[in-house]
Amino acid sequence: MAKSEGGIASEAWKGVAGAASVGVFAWVMDWLKPLWEYGSTALKSGWSHLMASSSMPNWMAYAMSFTLAISALRWALRAWASRKDNHKRFTQFNFMGGVWRWNFMSGLIGNLGVYCPQCDGALVYSNDINARQIWEVSWHCERCSCIRVSCEGDKGYLDGRVKREIDRLVRTGEWRNYVDKT
Ligand SMILES: [Zn+2]
Repeated sequence: MAKSEGGIASEAWKGVAGAASVGVFAWVMDWLKPLWEYGSTALKSGWSHLMASSSMPNWMAYAMSFTLAISALRWALRAWASRKDNHKRFTQFNFMGGVWRWNFMSGLIGNLGVYCPQCDGALVYSNDINARQIWEVSWHCERCSCIRVSCEGDKGYLDGRVKREIDRLVRTGEWRNYVDKT
């Protein structure tokens, strides 16, 4: 008896739940309808816009295509330059007591500069005759008040020596040890 009562009760609940879900469904559909209409109208107008032939002059279409092609080419070049295994990422290394920085311009090393390894200040150079009576170039840091790089010869010789070392690191592939590998 208790079982059948339970059965009736559960049937009744099913009925209520069914009615409620129909109500909820109707309510949701009511709510979705304007949204659907709005979406389909937007889609239709977007499609007809895409399919419409424009009255744009040819020169404008060419100019737009040209601009797009240039942008795509620039993007591809940038992606190529920043790819992981490009030695153009190698633009800094510690050498002879200083931090040397440069950039590659058409394959050549340009804007070579040397900085203090302690404070990162740009170093200042001077040419003096040393104790052995030989010309010596020195790069000193004004902030740290000390000489960071010194080498017998003149500034041109030292720049050449640094560039030769950079060139060697690039040719041997050792530059990879100086760049961020992440
Ligand atoms: Zn310094």
